[in-house]
Amino acid sequence: MTTGIAILGATGSIGASTLDVIERHPGRFRCVAVSARHDVEGMLAICQRHRPALAAMADPQAAATLAARLRDLQLPTEVATGAAGLLAVAEHEAADQVMAAIVGAAGLLPTLAAARRGKRVLLANKESLVMAGQLLMDAVAESGADLLPIDSEHNAIYQCLPGDYRCGAALPGVTEILLTASGGPFLETPLSRLPGMSPDDACAHPNWEMGRKISVDSATMMNKGLEVIEAAWLFNLPPDKIRVIIHPQSVVHSMVRMDDGSVLAQMGQPDMRTPIVYGMAWPERMDGGVAPLDLVTAGPLDFRSPDLERFPCLRLAQDALSAGGTAPLVLNAANEVAVQAFLDGRVGFTAIAEVIANTLDQTAVMPCPGDVDDIVALDQDIRRVAGELIGRCEGRRQH
Ligand code: NAD
Ligand code: MG
Repeated sequence: MTTGIAILGATGSIGASTLDVIERHPGRFRCVAVSARHDVEGMLAICQRHRPALAAMADPQAAATLAARLRDLQLPTEVATGAAGLLAVAEHEAADQVMAAIVGAAGLLPTLAAARRGKRVLLANKESLVMAGQLLMDAVAESGADLLPIDSEHNAIYQCLPGDYRCGAALPGVTEILLTASGGPFLETPLSRLPGMSPDDACAHPNWEMGRKISVDSATMMNKGLEVIEAAWLFNLPPDKIRVIIHPQSVVHSMVRMDDGSVLAQMGQPDMRTPIVYGMAWPERMDGGVAPLDLVTAGPLDFRSPDLERFPCLRLAQDALSAGGTAPLVLNAANEVAVQAFLDGRVGFTAIAEVIANTLDQTAVMPCPGDVDDIVALDQDIRRVAGELIGRCEGRRQH
């Protein structure tokens, strides 16, 4: 029997790596359903190659175009659209596993739906845990779904934990976890030059090839901040047990410090197919097409503490985790709005942290709502606040 995989965000960077792994093991895995926002050409190529039963495009126009093109090619893939289309992919009856690889808050509802259905959730979409950690972890616990972290750091930690460990459970014997961070493209850039950095500069990551949003997050180190919050939920740890260490070579993907003095690490190439195939094959191991790591040629491995003056977003995220309640949701929404404005050329690089800090200042921390509709509504409210702050930054820039 092959394992059916649904991919949310199939046209993205994680989506492509997942499809590559599926293709390497045709007898074992099969792509049954896919979703994307509006990339018709990308989706069409996936449908031609993988023949999924269902393809959902969030954008209705794109869905209509895709449906017409599929008809012309006489391909049998059914097309769905909008929020309902994404849910249909997440809940597809032929899907045993769901790769949650939509970028940003748009991933929350389908990821939650997959967890509620008891699918194995391969979690790349860290934003959904940051926004609604309690809700998602509760859904996983209630349905008995397997939750496998795909983010390379969390996957590394998972690999270092006992074989019977399940995400969300307490971690006896663990002193702290050490999340490694490359430091991104601006690790050595003089601070005075940061305000002038362009979107292309920010997306030129030294080690990893990723979508543009997460690439900017890596440049600000908000990515590591979101990962600190993600780790708190996945491994049920308080903020003071999650430490960030800069490791520019991205060979050690994270570490776990045990009470007896041991530090366990997972190492490998910076290639997302390792955590992806790990999650898909778990508890077995399979080849994901990743080149072997040669420590002799990898060169020296460096480790140092992050500079929070250079990376204010990391501190904002750590403070949001400590504040709890809605603070991480506010942080995430403001970050998404600010990163998009930066990618659109509306604000400068250093305005990202300013907008997030100001949004957090303007919003009182409340207990996080227990209902997902309230969480989505709050996310929208915060986006409006952050949007106004962006408008003011633009105004300042033009004068
Ligand atoms: P990407 O931009 O390359 O792809 C994003 C995918 O989401 C695309 O398929 C796009 O069509 C879809 N999408 C975007 N907006 C959508 C919307 N509003 N509705 C429906 N679909 C939408 O991003 P990526 O780099 O593949 O990252 C995906 C997720 O995985 C992110 O949450 C990211 O943080 C996480 N992640 C990525 C990497 C990596 O190496 N790329 C590593 C760790 C974690
Ligand atoms: Mg990561």
